[in-house]
Amino acid sequence: MADSSVLTVSIVTPDGQVYENDQVSMLVVKTKDGQLGILPNHVPVIASLSIDEVRIKHSDIEDAVAVNGGFVEFSGNVATIVADTAENESDIDVARAESARKRAEETIRKAQQVHDNSELRRAQISLRRAINRINVSKH
Ligand code: ATP
Repeated sequence: MADSSVLTVSIVTPDGQVYENDQVSMLVVKTKDGQLGILPNHVPVIASLSIDEVRIKHSDIEDAVAVNGGFVEFSGNVATIVADTAENESDIDVARAESARKRAEETIRKAQQVHDNSELRRAQISLRRAINRINVSKH
């Protein structure tokens, strides 16, 4: 692997490519084991991602992308993130995320009352997606 001062970052979902930048100085992702920062020439890595923000630094700018799980694969200074869904901060519909949050909170409340654990788990995941989108939109 040739030494380089930059990375290429690509984020893809089943609907297509959401993000691509070949001038990245640092990538920060949240894995199941905690935060992972990737600088140029980092050793190869593959890790599962949490429902969380992905931060991409280039020049003096930091982009944020809301990623719904998936995984990151890094080697040869190319990072590829594959996720079920991913939205750039400017593409996030905040009102939609707020109503998804309220809906999920209401479903959680009802599921707790009737002890419906599978409905509860689904709603908790929906809530995490909504909160993640809201947080990334405020980046
Ligand atoms: P909702 O209940 O609002 O549909 P959801 O979490 O169920 O939210 P997903 O199934 O994760 O939605 O995503 C379906 C599609 O809609 C994906 O393409 C995703 O990128 C997009 N999407 C979901 N929520 C938003 C949002 N708040 N802003 C922009 N795109 C969104």
